[in-house]
Amino acid sequence: MSEPQIVTIPCLSDNYAFLLHDPATGSTAVIDVPDHEPIIAELDARGWNLTHILITHHHWDHVQGVDQLKAAKGGTVFGCGADANRLPALDVRLAEGDRFEIGDLTVEVLDVSGHCDNHLAFVVPGAKAAFTADSLMALGCGRLFEGTPEQMWQSLSKLAALPPETMIYSGHEYTASNARFAATIDPDNPDLISRIAEIDKARAADQPTVPSNLAVELATNPFLRADEPDIAASLGLSDAPASRVFAEIRARKDKF
Ligand code: ZN
Ligand code: FE
Repeated sequence: MSEPQIVTIPCLSDNYAFLLHDPATGSTAVIDVPDHEPIIAELDARGWNLTHILITHHHWDHVQGVDQLKAAKGGTVFGCGADANRLPALDVRLAEGDRFEIGDLTVEVLDVSGHCDNHLAFVVPGAKAAFTADSLMALGCGRLFEGTPEQMWQSLSKLAALPPETMIYSGHEYTASNARFAATIDPDNPDLISRIAEIDKARAADQPTVPSNLAVELATNPFLRADEPDIAASLGLSDAPASRVFAEIRARKDKF
């Protein structure tokens, strides 16, 4: 049996797009289109036909290449129906709980709003993958432009409940700066200390730090650890709800 393949494509200054390819059927999806040219080049280099274009959220750095990519390579465009008025033209309107197929792979749709309204994540259990864009990120999470801390905490909690072996494909290479911030919140966490050393090594070698493993995020990402009593206590928020602790961590990151 041939395993699904996922290719990480750097775009613009620090964005990532991803190709998800099902060898059994030849189906190929792209997740987000920050720029059409590098995606077309990767499809051509691999001889893959584009069948699906998945959009996580409306920000320009995730969607601006959609129309040109579709014109060049085809593909059915999937995105959040409730956000259709500010997304490129959708062929399929999605909402939380929807499922669809990419070849033999099932995709599950989660609403992970908080960074902006109507932000979707695409979970692909058959590839042990979750495409999270600017919700859960490697050692971080997206800034709250439209949502509330409670909403983002709820979104992160949905992702935290996925199987721990899930790989998190997030939308930007922000990990090194996220790591410097994480160390201010959780300085004595040995898993975080060793992860930061790995991140520094990867970035020095110009290697991407995305995707990352969910179990590692659960152990090291301060935004996912807002429900840890030690972290709440160190922020002077013992007995506060996790969403309140999350709000404090997010506010500190915004000023960092
Ligand atoms: Zn964004
Ligand atoms: Fe973004």
